[in-house]
Amino acid sequence: MISDAERKMQFLFSLRSRGVTNKRVLNAMEHVDRKKYIRGTFEERAYEDTPLPIACGQTISQPSIVALMTESLDVQPRDKVLEIGTGSGYQAAILSQLARRVYTVDRHSQLVRAARALFELEDITNITVFSADGSHGLPEQAPFDKILLTAASEDPPGPLLEQLRVGGIMVLPVGQSDKVQTLVKILKTEDGLTYHELRPVRFVPLLEGLGKENF
Ligand code: SAH
Repeated sequence: MISDAERKMQFLFSLRSRGVTNKRVLNAMEHVDRKKYIRGTFEERAYEDTPLPIACGQTISQPSIVALMTESLDVQPRDKVLEIGTGSGYQAAILSQLARRVYTVDRHSQLVRAARALFELEDITNITVFSADGSHGLPEQAPFDKILLTAASEDPPGPLLEQLRVGGIMVLPVGQSDKVQTLVKILKTEDGLTYHELRPVRFVPLLEGLGKENF
């Protein structure tokens, strides 16, 4: 039997071998234990580089994709970051290691409550979790230095582009659900928006409104 400690070492090794070289990102991923964000039968596979099922029919993303998205956002220590799609809370926990403040939103209140409880348990104090349709963003907290979507939309939602600071970066999967989507990085400058396509990805879709357990 190999121990969790050995599995964690293999986990970091496999991230490196998949091209994750950014030291700050690797450091953050070393500090956040993915196993804590996965409950039940799939815990066993927490250190594999694969997406896994979580509650509400959602998924925790593949670690090498979490790393790529985090690296692409170029998170700085003073940044205020918005994440749409809290899910397990894993990506938000990674961001919280690198940023000043993280706001994260999910349409499923069950996931929001579980993530909140987990952050409290882990003593993470710079994440605020909201239950809402994230495509409207969080106007009261705007503008954001960085915005990350972890659910795919056909187009970048307008309110989110508005809530991104000039000089800011947005990273999101663009495309229709169940088709191949493209991870896109958007830079907002004085002159407008520039788009860079990063790689094909597959995420759950960004859905309208709140999850049904909210009613
Ligand atoms: N970042 C997560 C993985 C997210 S899976 C992690 O690290 O585990 C995508 C999440 O997006 C799901 O939890 C889903 O409920 C959420 N989602 C989908 N559409 C949404 C919307 N319009 N607003 C907020 N959250 C949404």
